[in-house]
Amino acid sequence: MEQREDKLKDIISHAKEYGFVFPSSEIYDGLSATYDYGQLGAELKNNLKTYWWKSMVQMHDNIVGLDSAIFMHPTTWKASGHIDAFNDPLIDNKDSKKRYRADVLIEDYIEKQRQKIEKEVEKGIKRFGADFDETQFRATNPNVLRSQEKIDSVEKRMKESLEANDLEAVYQLIVDLEITCPISGSKNWTEVRQFNLMFSTELGSVSGEAATIYLRPETAQGIFVNFLNVQKSGRMKIPFGIAQIGKAFRNEIVARQFIFRMREFEQMEMQFFVRPGEEMKWYNYWKEFRLNWHHALNLGDEKYRYHDHLKLAHYANAASDIEFDFPMGFKELEGIHSRTDFDLKQHEQHSGKKLHYFDPELNQSYVPYVIETSIGLDRMFLAVLSASYKNETLEDGSERVVLKIPATLAPYKACIMPLVKKDGLPEKAREIIKMLQLDFMLQYDEKDSIGKRYRRQDAIGTPFSVTVDHQSLEDNMVTIRDRDTMEQQRVLISELSTILHQKCSWTALFN
Ligand code: ATP
Repeated sequence: MEQREDKLKDIISHAKEYGFVFPSSEIYDGLSATYDYGQLGAELKNNLKTYWWKSMVQMHDNIVGLDSAIFMHPTTWKASGHIDAFNDPLIDNKDSKKRYRADVLIEDYIEKQRQKIEKEVEKGIKRFGADFDETQFRATNPNVLRSQEKIDSVEKRMKESLEANDLEAVYQLIVDLEITCPISGSKNWTEVRQFNLMFSTELGSVSGEAATIYLRPETAQGIFVNFLNVQKSGRMKIPFGIAQIGKAFRNEIVARQFIFRMREFEQMEMQFFVRPGEEMKWYNYWKEFRLNWHHALNLGDEKYRYHDHLKLAHYANAASDIEFDFPMGFKELEGIHSRTDFDLKQHEQHSGKKLHYFDPELNQSYVPYVIETSIGLDRMFLAVLSASYKNETLEDGSERVVLKIPATLAPYKACIMPLVKKDGLPEKAREIIKMLQLDFMLQYDEKDSIGKRYRRQDAIGTPFSVTVDHQSLEDNMVTIRDRDTMEQQRVLISELSTILHQKCSWTALFN
């Protein structure tokens, strides 16, 4: 665990040092749980958005995009249930004065039990070697069974108390499990209370006429209220989807862990409208599709897992998270929810406008059901950054920090560097940049030794470094070095475009 926390610390300082992520308004000592993306962070973030948008919108002829406003009519949030039910159960430790989400404390306890099971399994593998039957071991080993029983009973109690909104029962569970505060180590807890996560502000310039409006806590409602606008103007036929990338705001109780939990963050959401009764088919389809989207990045399939929800949100009839193995452990990266017809029906009721779809094949009019895929862009950013961050010891004993970011997502695709700052080499390097920069983000670097320049590019994840030397002026060839293998090759300048396309283009990633 300590090693993992160290890794997060390393990533945070690396991200700052190289211009990926800065604490917001740092000169004023920052603002908690708010971050700014620097010059490289902005590039990586844009590439992540493009990867998502291409896969969801460009490659589906039945999904279209939307860019709705952050401010929405306040009744939106009454209809969606956010004013009444967008709460987290919070609890304070009286000794450390730290505030926690009660459900997260319990989830952490469950995760510890899971880790105990995995440790037992590892021990078994070591003890029995090739003869080890993991399935049987998991089904019969007394220690494994005991932990599993604990998990099941805790999950059941948590689900029941949260669903019944029985905050005293949630408190009692924390007491019974003897959960201690990670900071003070004490069990001196306050009662559990509900806390609404929406930020509010006021609209209207004349005092007295101001109305409370909210910063949207999710982008989804902008899609629901535009459902008919898009369907009609785009002549969309069910099943079809609307996708949107945009900021969302939540007054999180516990905002820690870097860009994992922020108060201002970005979501990439898609609402897929389907026939009532067909939602489970599409729910399973999108669950699988989204996991494949993650796997395609080759960050390691074992870093992802599904977590099916026990406690369903007020609008859902099925929900699953795709969890990622962050430096802090497995945590939610994306949610796939079957939202039924809840939202559209609520908006019909509160607006008095019909939000029906006429299905020409069924010759029937209905309120569509909705499957939603919702991923946090910032969490995706952290997933890529943490899985890419490697501290390597090289054959000669030296060390390098390298970001093995999937080539297509890397901020720069190549760095073009003249061996020396004279003899026409910089000019030649600039020529190469001119030739390629319309298709690829490139960097130019002429400072320090080539070895140091390589290290700098490794540290920011640039897949290729291209060196122009004196020979290049005569034979139009350059040395191209691969970030991951560190192999160097002599190639024609005229081949560079093809090489970069093969490794760093969207086609390369999607293939
Ligand atoms: P959590 O349980 O971690 O609070 P959630 O279940 O409330 O997340 P959703 O409402 O399903 O999250 O939001 C969809 C996605 O938005 C999440 O999977 C996550 O990637 C992202 N997200 C939610 N809250 C935050 C936040 N405070 N900071 C960054 N990303 C967030």
